[in-house]
Amino acid sequence: MAYVIGEACVDVMDRSCVDDCPIDCIYTGERKLYVHPEECIDCGACARSCPVDAITWDRDLDPSEPDSAHIADATAFFYQPLPGRPSPLREPGGAAALGPVGVDTALVAAIPRQGTP
Ligand code: SF4
Ligand code: SF4
Repeated sequence: MAYVIGEACVDVMDRSCVDDCPIDCIYTGERKLYVHPEECIDCGACARSCPVDAITWDRDLDPSEPDSAHIADATAFFYQPLPGRPSPLREPGGAAALGPVGVDTALVAAIPRQGTP
């Protein structure tokens, strides 16, 4: 179980959640952030700090909700090779040391930019 960041984060990325995560398990893509599903300890601090309510405990997401797709997508971010990378990130052990990843999953990359028809 883990917290999951949904579509509301896309193109917002203010990083309030990063500042409040006690174990530094929220990683930065290009247009969205991703919680590591194995490193997250389910404390909920990030969800309380997000100004756009983008973060949800995965058990609270009904499969009918669009953000439920971001549960599997977070796993894909870490365990499938991202564009331009030869191998998956797997368990980097901390977002600060890794730095911004700079790319997104295909699901997130396909989301229209805000204000774009
Ligand atoms: S629930 Fe806690 S450990 Fe998990 S991402 Fe949020 S702040 Fe970090
Ligand atoms: S606090 Fe919310 S909007 Fe800001 S980076 Fe984190 S998930 Fe995205």
